[in-house]
Amino acid sequence: MDSEPNATVTMRYEINHGLLVLQVTPDEEMLPFVAGQYTTLGLPGAAPRHYAAEPEDPPADPARVIKRAYSIASSSLQGRYFEFFVALVRTGALTPRLFALEQGDRVFLGRRIVGMFTLGDVPPGKDVVFVATGTGLAPYLSMLRSRYAFDAGQRTVVVHGSRVSYDLGYRSELEGLAARYPSFHYLPIIDRPDRDPGWTGQVGFVDRYFADGTVSRSLGHPITPENTVVFLCGNPLMVQGMMAYLGALGFRRHTRKEPGHLFVEEFWKED
Ligand SMILES: Cc1cc2nc3c(=O)[nH]c(=O)nc-3n(C[C@H](O)[C@H](O)[C@H](O)COP(=O)(O)OP(=O)(O)OC[C@H]3O[C@@H](n4cnc5c(N)ncnc54)[C@H](O)[C@@H]3O)c2cc1C
Repeated sequence: MDSEPNATVTMRYEINHGLLVLQVTPDEEMLPFVAGQYTTLGLPGAAPRHYAAEPEDPPADPARVIKRAYSIASSSLQGRYFEFFVALVRTGALTPRLFALEQGDRVFLGRRIVGMFTLGDVPPGKDVVFVATGTGLAPYLSMLRSRYAFDAGQRTVVVHGSRVSYDLGYRSELEGLAARYPSFHYLPIIDRPDRDPGWTGQVGFVDRYFADGTVSRSLGHPITPENTVVFLCGNPLMVQGMMAYLGALGFRRHTRKEPGHLFVEEFWKED
């Protein structure tokens, strides 16, 4: 059947309460994909929910497989497993079940890998700014891990917003890239400093980095649609806010029909 488990959890690691790195190995050969694309994970309603999740009311149909989209965080080159970076939605249908998975457990993994949120349409020579909140970092990790052109002359900036510093997943990996490549800049920012009194870095929402000139200083020039493309991924409020901010600077959303300077992936829609 099309929803039978067809993959095994080969690694699970909680970055912090509510933030999970999950590596999943398919039974069959790995499907090829382009860094930035997404696939589906699924579990039946009968699968147990994580202890930190809220109880479901009404309970899910035990036989129905709950499926959701997840961006692939692993490299498109390694060919052994898919890595995902997942946030727990305590009232959610699937994530409480994903968080309850242990190494060796079985899971449904989509047989299609899709999405236009890739580097394929970025004109050569343009600087690239990747903006994420929370697990919106996942597609950028895949891009940066998939033979990213760090030395091709352009500059790259990752702006990652989270609530507190201990939610800044993959921080050491990104700091390592920044130490290694002078053209690469990593700008973490938190919006709940009251819960993280030891944090001495940037505070606020990601747009502050643009408004106060930090992103422009990292790029070495004012940010314009002529010299830079911007990727936005994660929370729809951040995405909409950044689209409005960058729209005022002349940035337009990229589509297949009308090439633009803004590449957008929203993880959910605001009601
Ligand atoms: C193209 C695409 C790629 C995605 N990639 C990822 C990914 O890499 N990692 C990831 O964690 N999620 C990702 N998502 C979101 C994911 O598909 C699910 O919506 C999410 O995991 C919640 O599932 P659920 O069944 O637990 O919640 P549901 O019962 O479906 O409830 C959905 C509600 O949960 C909230 N929500 C959804 N996603 C999040 C989130 N990440 N953080 C906080 N609140 C959220 C929203 O209020 C949303 O309306 C992606 C979505 C899309 C469309």
